[in-house]
Amino acid sequence: MIGTRSATRQLWIVGVAVSLISAWLASPATAADEAPVTHSTLPSGNDDYRTFAAYEADLAELVANHPDLVKPLTLPYETSSGRDVQGIEISRDVQADDGKPVFVTVGMHHGNERPSGELTMEFATDVVENAGDPRLSRLLDNARLVVVPVVNVDGFVRNRRQTDTNVDMNRNYGFGWLPISTGGPAPWSEPETRNIQWLLSTRQATTFVTQHTCLQVVLYPPLQLEAGPTQDVARFEDLATRMAAHYGPSYIPRDSAHDYETTGEAIDWAYFATRGLAFTAETCPDEGVERTFETQVVDTYAGHRAAMLEAFENTADPDQHATIRGKAPKNAVLRVSRSFDMYTHPYAQPDGSTRPSSFPTTLTSDLEVSNKNGKFRWAVNPSERPIPPYQHDGVHGNQTGFYTEPWILTCERPDGTVVQEQPVNIDLGETTTVDLTECRRRFHRPDRSTP
Ligand SMILES: [Zn+2]
Repeated sequence: MIGTRSATRQLWIVGVAVSLISAWLASPATAADEAPVTHSTLPSGNDDYRTFAAYEADLAELVANHPDLVKPLTLPYETSSGRDVQGIEISRDVQADDGKPVFVTVGMHHGNERPSGELTMEFATDVVENAGDPRLSRLLDNARLVVVPVVNVDGFVRNRRQTDTNVDMNRNYGFGWLPISTGGPAPWSEPETRNIQWLLSTRQATTFVTQHTCLQVVLYPPLQLEAGPTQDVARFEDLATRMAAHYGPSYIPRDSAHDYETTGEAIDWAYFATRGLAFTAETCPDEGVERTFETQVVDTYAGHRAAMLEAFENTADPDQHATIRGKAPKNAVLRVSRSFDMYTHPYAQPDGSTRPSSFPTTLTSDLEVSNKNGKFRWAVNPSERPIPPYQHDGVHGNQTGFYTEPWILTCERPDGTVVQEQPVNIDLGETTTVDLTECRRRFHRPDRSTP
């Protein structure tokens, strides 16, 4: 018995040896084709950077495979070289215009910071593919995620920091803008920057994160020391500290001005316009570690995921936004909006004077009342706007107050006729009930002029 078993084993060893030699004798091309495919631990399984075509294909695939969870989003302005900037919206029953608070996260303001696009795209993939996970499921029920992985498409395609007009997108935002060499010829001169302005102005983005490389920081406004701390410094510090801790022990949460001073960045305008919390997350491997796809994307992703979930949960938390509720006619369109001027930093104007330029900001978003009983709940940013350091007559730092600027809420028929209009003053964490009796009474009746 023992002899037979030993003979069988010898035959088996010879067999393995023969097949190994045959494999070795096979042509190198065949051997490479048949090599097992390795998948990284990323949600996509990728082990290299995406091309721009791969981003487009992956976004389209998420939309096609999950129409209940994902819808496409094309930003309104083509890049200066005529390319589309694309993203997706993700939520339970994503097609509904349902008044959930919005978390916006974007990558690649700087076209050569490729991990920033990858991490952003991987998080979107993760949320969609694992939507059944209890934590994600709860978030998708209560909030909406908007992802634009590559905002500076021209820069990405050419692997350079600036846009094709040689402007640093993240110095071109109008608020506190200065005509530095890479800031563009004027505030908001670049279509790529105006895309983000549009994105954050047309929905209730209560949290905004823009990804960069290669530092280990989570930054929040202000950008300049003379501006002083913002009115929401405690909230910023709290969330930035939690996000940074997820990225790793060497990551530092701090205001951007104390990292290094800049002007015209996304987060400063975003916060002072909307009062949504706005962060620059910079990821980088530890010092001395080689920068590869593995170290910059694969190894960074777990921390990034946890940090983004913090930000997403902050978005869903009613204490971190304001809530308008009420009862409107079914199929009514509700709209909140408000407009105000914002200012650049003072700079030398063509007429020889040194003063700021102003630019208008209009925030507007809408909700379609789809419940049969007309009841709605609408998460919005507070109407109390932080008094900004950049004003019509110069820089006034260390502001502590807020402007009371009500949202103007309108109740409209689907054809756009405004049936009722009323101001809504609402602060952080508050819930207010609006009385839409007049809209309900007049909604189905044609308007007649008084005889
Ligand atoms: Zn950057």
